[in-house]
Amino acid sequence: MVGAGSAGCVVASRLSEDPDRSVLLLEGGPDRRAPGLARAIASRNGIGIFAHHRAFWPDQRATHLAGGRLGWYLRGYGIGGSSSVNSMLALPGLPRDYDRWADELGCTGWSWADVRPWFEALKPRLTASTDAELTPLDSALLASAAELGLKRDLDTFDDPSDGAGVLLRNATPHGRHSSAEDWLRPAMDRPNLTVRPDTPVERLLFDGTRCVGVRTATGEELHADEVVLSAGVIGSPAVLLRSGVDRPGIGHHLRDHPAVSVGLVLRPAYREARADLPCTGTVLRTSSGAGDGDIHLLPMHGDSSGSGEVHGVLMAALMTSRSDGTVRLDPDDPSGPPRIDLRMLEDPADRRAMHEALRCLVRALRSSAFAEVVEAVRVDDRGSDLTALLDEDFADAWLPDHVGDYFHATGTCRMGPASDPGSVVDLQGRVHGHTGLRVIDASVMPDTPSANTHTPTVMIAERLSAALRGLPW
Ligand SMILES: Cc1cc2nc3c(=O)[nH]c(=O)nc-3n(C[C@H](O)[C@H](O)[C@H](O)COP(=O)(O)OP(=O)(O)OC[C@H]3O[C@@H](n4cnc5c(N)ncnc54)[C@H](O)[C@@H]3O)c2cc1C
Repeated sequence: MVGAGSAGCVVASRLSEDPDRSVLLLEGGPDRRAPGLARAIASRNGIGIFAHHRAFWPDQRATHLAGGRLGWYLRGYGIGGSSSVNSMLALPGLPRDYDRWADELGCTGWSWADVRPWFEALKPRLTASTDAELTPLDSALLASAAELGLKRDLDTFDDPSDGAGVLLRNATPHGRHSSAEDWLRPAMDRPNLTVRPDTPVERLLFDGTRCVGVRTATGEELHADEVVLSAGVIGSPAVLLRSGVDRPGIGHHLRDHPAVSVGLVLRPAYREARADLPCTGTVLRTSSGAGDGDIHLLPMHGDSSGSGEVHGVLMAALMTSRSDGTVRLDPDDPSGPPRIDLRMLEDPADRRAMHEALRCLVRALRSSAFAEVVEAVRVDDRGSDLTALLDEDFADAWLPDHVGDYFHATGTCRMGPASDPGSVVDLQGRVHGHTGLRVIDASVMPDTPSANTHTPTVMIAERLSAALRGLPW
């Protein structure tokens, strides 16, 4: 197995439940961390991690808009992968997401009716912030919902309608529960499971079309009956491309949720963020008109920029994206960081929906609920007024400097029938045209669900591990 992230930890744990199977899990990043980083990973607050560049895969950058500037593209690095650095927000996605996978994208067996029981099985692991743990920005978001004509007590996990509500999280009052804590570490004592951190895999080894092992970055060759790639949306296609696997969809169809944030200067009584509490515990979901439930507003209490000038942010994200990006090898350095171009908002429908997301952001911040907490809004370095975002010409000029991602990349080894030339793996994660080779991680999603992607990735890992073991899935 390659990659010990959200999916890889689950798969290694499930496969090693079978004592007749021997599992070797190779992770490119470290296990042990310096004390400050270890504390940031363990914390359920979630914001402190952004101060630690060693938490993330080194030198990984991307352009967000076509022809735009290169900026950091954050992915987790080390045991736990992105589940050790993410914000722990847990949503399954909307029924329409999975029904589209099954009905329109050829992924029979992946409809909402098929995947829902697997999400239900994950729910007991999740906890919500209590009322006392909500930040002032969480409370303002919930109260603003009523002013926007939306319900304010949405069951965010089970109710697919619009509204605001408290989120479930992959954390307990004692701290983060990554895939490493929940799946891998409890399995580490098994004699048939070996975990090797600090072992990046360079490429796959083949005997004809049969995958027979991997070669690490140091040139070591390791042989196996079956190789499972769980190296994530950037790592898995990069390994396949370096290995010369010939399937046109590899590295294509990269999608993420475009997101913009404005900085918030809070009134003095609300400025201090508590490091022992989640920095965010609520979401507001609404619809652009281009799609249902396709906008998220997410508040974050604390200064993730480290500038000391703001005390929080409100983010608006587009949860349905139709624009496709790519992950490609750098021709001058195929072993180095891949070239990542997201080409966000290229589809005109995405741009229209983003304009609507900006209008929602402005409406929420103009509500009396936010006015009670927020003293000033920082839209950009030039001191632009919040209402400028309502002007589409201004917004179009503003977006290239301000669009980022919600960290929810998918699709670079997407699942589908062999007859679909854009698909890379079949409905059980087996790479088309090869034997002994599977991909099990967020890269196989045929489209990005309208949700934060850790929980859908774990759902996929559970189902495809069961399929690999010949169990019902
Ligand atoms: C900053 C951030 C915040 C996020 N917040 C949330 C959130 O609040 N809620 C949510 O649901 N989702 C969130 N996400 C998204 C979610 O965490 C990811 O979708 C999910 O973790 C993807 O899982 P994965 O298994 O596909 O990849 P990863 O978890 O990224 O795992 C891939 C692993 O493979 C390793 N690897 C890569 N290449 C190689 C190689 N060549 N050899 C060996 N190892 C390799 C990596 O080091 C990594 O450990 C966030 C992501 C980030 C980065």
